[in-house]
Amino acid sequence: MAQTLDPNADNNLCRKDYVELHTFNATDPSAVILGFLTEMQQEYTTLTDNLFIQIGLLNDEISKLKLKAREHPSSPSPAPKPGSTPAPPPPTTSSSKPPPAVPAPTWATVARKNKKKKNPAPVATSAPPPAATTNNKPSPQQEKKSPTLRERRLLIKRDGTALPTSTISLRDQINSALGSTFVQRIEGDALNNITLITMETIKATALNSRASTFLHLIPGTSSVHLDTPMTQLIVHGIPTSHALLNIGEELTTFNTGLILSQEPRWLTSNDRREGKSASSIVISITGPKAQDIAKRSRLSAFSSTFRLERRLRFNHLTQCARCQLFGHHTLRCTNDPTCRWCAGKHLTSDHTCPVGEDLTKGRPCSHTIVKCAGCSGHHDSRFPKCPSRPPASDVQMDLH
Ligand SMILES: [Zn+2]
Ligand SMILES: [Zn+2]
Ligand SMILES: [Zn+2]
Ligand SMILES: [Zn+2]
Repeated sequence: MAQTLDPNADNNLCRKDYVELHTFNATDPSAVILGFLTEMQQEYTTLTDNLFIQIGLLNDEISKLKLKAREHPSSPSPAPKPGSTPAPPPPTTSSSKPPPAVPAPTWATVARKNKKKKNPAPVATSAPPPAATTNNKPSPQQEKKSPTLRERRLLIKRDGTALPTSTISLRDQINSALGSTFVQRIEGDALNNITLITMETIKATALNSRASTFLHLIPGTSSVHLDTPMTQLIVHGIPTSHALLNIGEELTTFNTGLILSQEPRWLTSNDRREGKSASSIVISITGPKAQDIAKRSRLSAFSSTFRLERRLRFNHLTQCARCQLFGHHTLRCTNDPTCRWCAGKHLTSDHTCPVGEDLTKGRPCSHTIVKCAGCSGHHDSRFPKCPSRPPASDVQMDLH
């Protein structure tokens, strides 16, 4: 590459060589053709190398712009080159999917309390406590984009006993145990469970991986988990002779990574289960593996496997993330896709800059004319005050 940085010199040299070598033999047509080909190849090599250099420069520029966009998320960054600035994404909610239709009071696993070996007791945690490092800079993974509040929450389920100190003092103790300011604040609830909220640039995963360093400061801890969305699933054909607590234990023990956020319950009423040997249960799962588990077709328990189905809850207010219409669940949509941002006939995730300048997909840019699929108004299709949104007053159905 270095030699081609000065391509003209090379080319001249080459032509000179060619002339010296071949002038006396200019009548040989194959030599002439070979000469031309050599020259052409040189030129293409030079052009390609120049393109690579330009790509490198553009990539540098892109990284710089990304950095600036992160530093000033709400104001457009100044354009170093006219017409080439991608607008920073607007501070919309992060996902095009509808929020989970279930309330999300996540509390710890029901089964764990009976399984002492699984308790993440301070000393039992397997990860070696990392040395209290003095570096304050976030890891590369944290630098990509600022985490959401949910990604900054680490939920600590406790046995109900009062905390030994105030949350302020606990926060300071945890930060000093970590040797760095990870925790911004601590929230408690009526049951003395606590939530650690990390600094804006730090993800709760970073805190979770260092839990062994500070868990001794929080006595009575029964489980620690990230604030992942709760997913509801239905498990079919469970023998009705088993107690729900027992079913929960079986499921968490024999399906690695399955974390129940509350005790399972039967899908149908006691009356309707009368005389039946097997029935369906509803489970709420959480944790980093929740989405993987939800995709499985069967779960293991009681030395057998049981059919698993995602529980889809929706009502007339549920808005489909695929077609933007109301009253059905995205996973059951049979309509053509409609873009949330421009009402175009494509998936929201396929939305691109209408003039092709911005490379970000799935988000509106400064060139996008936002148009609502419901009312054609100048707002996106999920705008809460859209006049075409159905009224919230009606009684809610609960179907699956
Ligand atoms: Zn739909
Ligand atoms: Zn679009
Ligand atoms: Zn654009
Ligand atoms: Zn609208």
